[in-house]
Amino acid sequence: MIKVTLAKGDGIGPEIMDATLSILDAANADITFEEIQVGEKMYLNGHTTGISDDAWETIRTNKILFKAPITTPQGGGYKSLNVTMRKTLGLYSNIRPCTSMHPFVQTKHPDMDVVIIRENEEDLYAGIEHQQTDEVVQCLKLISRPGCEKIITYAFEYAIRNGRKKVTCFTKDNIMKQTDGLFHEVFNEVALKYPQIEIEHWIVDIGAALLADSPERFDVIVMPNLYGDVMSDIAAQIAGSVGLGGSANIGQECAMFEAIHGSAPDIAGKNIANPSGLINASIMMLNHVGKNKVAEKIHNAWLRTIEDGVHTADIYDPIMSTKKVGTKEFAEAVIANLGELPKQLPSVVYEESTPLVLPKYQRRPAKDKKIVGVDVFVDWHGEDAKELGAILQKLNNDALELVLITNRGVKVWPHGFKETFCTDHWRCRYAAKDDVLLDKGKIVEILQAGLEHNIDIIKTENLYTFDGKRGYSLGQGQ
Ligand code: NAD
Repeated sequence: MIKVTLAKGDGIGPEIMDATLSILDAANADITFEEIQVGEKMYLNGHTTGISDDAWETIRTNKILFKAPITTPQGGGYKSLNVTMRKTLGLYSNIRPCTSMHPFVQTKHPDMDVVIIRENEEDLYAGIEHQQTDEVVQCLKLISRPGCEKIITYAFEYAIRNGRKKVTCFTKDNIMKQTDGLFHEVFNEVALKYPQIEIEHWIVDIGAALLADSPERFDVIVMPNLYGDVMSDIAAQIAGSVGLGGSANIGQECAMFEAIHGSAPDIAGKNIANPSGLINASIMMLNHVGKNKVAEKIHNAWLRTIEDGVHTADIYDPIMSTKKVGTKEFAEAVIANLGELPKQLPSVVYEESTPLVLPKYQRRPAKDKKIVGVDVFVDWHGEDAKELGAILQKLNNDALELVLITNRGVKVWPHGFKETFCTDHWRCRYAAKDDVLLDKGKIVEILQAGLEHNIDIIKTENLYTFDGKRGYSLGQGQ
């Protein structure tokens, strides 16, 4: 018997969860649920993360969490429990299937059947942010090779297991050559192991435009965290409604299943919410724990119900719908259809499967890492970069010399343009002189000289090569 941790959530959470549980029960899913309290009440009871230590323990013991949406109270600096859970439990993969149900649910894209696989732990969501000067704040974008390998391998394995033919990668590696460049590079490497799957890559901006315009050209799309966050909501909405989609968050140890939408406080307690997002999440959960045939039965019954025109208010359409129902009545209609197949929409078949276990990450032999310079970031309120260059050249030593100053990435020294707008945040690059074997003591000398010349150094970033390949970006205009 499988034991799953259950959180009924806030707003419409309890009513859509009860509706979904009634379907699981009627389909003999044979799952035991252990309920925990998370969300609004816990936040307001003084748990700033929205969850108690006991609840964490239950989740870690049972490994699977089935969660209705929760409300994050506005203001008061409460952290999103969803983000905390994804990161703390290592739920590296977020999967959102977005399939249109034309003509039964209104959509401009009748043939859409896309799965967005979003990296869930890294990228700008590391939440490492700093204010460095009066005028400039920064957020660190961190992308790791193990993080890329996990999510990209997951995307290909998902494609194989679900009979998908193509995996597309979205990045912005024409601009972020190191971070998104690594994601794209690992995509190309991993793809070599799956010759039966077609691959393609799009720069995220044109990729997003194509997804919004002609989603039927895509199959599985894998992408870094921030693009995935934006793109998966767009995909769900253009498929018909964000109210229909389920979402899985998968880790090596634990997994969490939920609806895409939020807790919809505006319609809470009225028995009008659509439970379909959570029903679809439960189907993904059943597949994950190997109860594929129960998943298949519920999925087909749900498709049939949608096809019958039995619709909740959010997707009710006087032409296509036959009956407007409440949350509970929709679940009852799905239960009545258990064992039925849709007549027009394609029915689903789920093969017996075991949870996907990725191979353990194999660290590669360390590359030859050489330090070749340092970027010194300076808070300076002057306007003429020539003046700053003259001051900073005084910091040169026998190993390092100033070669470049940029302002927000644009070269302003030497030979800058007076048109370039400058703020108070300057990146000053010191490079090793020819044939000098640099050591970090020389960088410390630069910092010491900076102190002596009253320069406000806000941070440094060492410049390395790896096996002779440059491990840092050039300045725009360099
Ligand atoms: P929302 O998704 O809750 O609601 C947006 C709109 O969609 C509302 O008009 C709502 O009535 C409607 N809607 C949503 N789900 C529906 C359903 N199942 N049936 C019918 N209509 C539905 O988004 P929001 O208003 O931005 O957020 C409300 C709260 O939900 C916030 O506190 C937010 O933090 C939280 N939230 C939680 C999760 C989660 O727990 N996974 C995700 C997103 C937002």
